[in-house]
Amino acid sequence: MREYLFRPGASVPLAPGPAEDEMLAAVAGSNMGHVEVTYRPPCDDAGWQAKLRASLDDGGVNINTVHAPFGAPVDISSEDADVRATGIAVVEASIRYAAGIGADIVVVHGSMEPIAPDDRDTREELARGSLLGLAARAGDAGLRVAVELLPRTCLGNTPEGLRSLLDGIPPEQAGFCLDTNHLTPPWMSAVRADSERERELLDGLGGDLVYPSLLPGVVRSLADRLITLHVSDYNGIDERHWLPFRGVVDWAAFANALADVGFSGAFVYETRFPADGMAGLLAEALTNFDDILDAARAAPAA
Ligand SMILES: [Zn+2]
Repeated sequence: MREYLFRPGASVPLAPGPAEDEMLAAVAGSNMGHVEVTYRPPCDDAGWQAKLRASLDDGGVNINTVHAPFGAPVDISSEDADVRATGIAVVEASIRYAAGIGADIVVVHGSMEPIAPDDRDTREELARGSLLGLAARAGDAGLRVAVELLPRTCLGNTPEGLRSLLDGIPPEQAGFCLDTNHLTPPWMSAVRADSERERELLDGLGGDLVYPSLLPGVVRSLADRLITLHVSDYNGIDERHWLPFRGVVDWAAFANALADVGFSGAFVYETRFPADGMAGLLAEALTNFDDILDAARAAPAA
């Protein structure tokens, strides 16, 4: 009998703003045991941090992860020293925030993209240097950094590439975040869909590609340092952040791979949870989680 030790969570846009009370009420009342929040500068406010902690404590919600910001001016692998320093500074701010609100893990992206094949070694070296310092900071604060499996040409787009980013960093300071919709062909970087019509065509292509079928193997290969997940479905070609069962991922096989390696972290849905309708979407994710466990239990034994 397999044991499913992981528990559902959700990545929610909880941050100071006009909808903060509505969102806090939705999360606290949701039965979702774990959440991920994203760091933004307004989150430095001590009043906000106290309010967030108190509301979620009341609802029995654990703050599993803080997602460090990512985007064009933020890249810990950049060859531009200023860009790299900015990237490091926002992850450091995210670590301080995580410590302030009692989160366990800070999720970090190894790079932006596209990255040309010739630049890859240099960029990996720079990312590793940045992560070495950041993981030590996190360790000092009693936290861990989770470097995320990323799509297309980003650093850490394969299990081997992701593992190499943590070379020389102790496991008590850093591990991996596996995103289930990030196993994509590198060429996708060059042909990313912009128009609705292109998106439709790509979404219709999914299913036969090798990438989604790699997922259980990726779980096994990352297992020793796997500390958190980003869960969503996709077309097998490019990330979509759909609710599981809409796309091509074999959810029973994924859940059973997690059970087989004894993963006991949070199963964090990284689908959309806008303030408007958040309570309903959190309930839908919890039902979806039960459906995944049902499918996993019904699957033939390995
Ligand atoms: Zn993700």
